Amino acid sequence: MSYVRMGEDGSDVYVYMTTAGLICCGGRAMTSTAAMVDHLRGHIADGDCVPPDVIPALEADDESNFPPGGELTAKPELLAIHITGEPCA
Ligand SMILES: [Zn+2]
Repeated sequence: MSYVRMGEDGSDVYVYMTTAGLICCGGRAMTSTAAMVDHLRGHIADGDCVPPDVIPALEADDESNFPPGGELTAKPELLAIHITGEPCA
């Protein structure tokens, strides 16, 4: 599941969910929503463009991405989700 692709809405990041966790820009998988949100805030602090819908979408999916005590899920039906946000200024 992709939250945002490189270049989409001016994005400098590419964030997607896998069965190992959330991945940004091909880096290591992060196993919590909070870790990814912190990571994205770091990008924003560095002046990178993270479209404004990305963090709310990650937080909205927290329970389905990381069910308490459950297996990580990367639902095939969500692979096509396209996050449309306001382009970064
Ligand atoms: Zn990143």
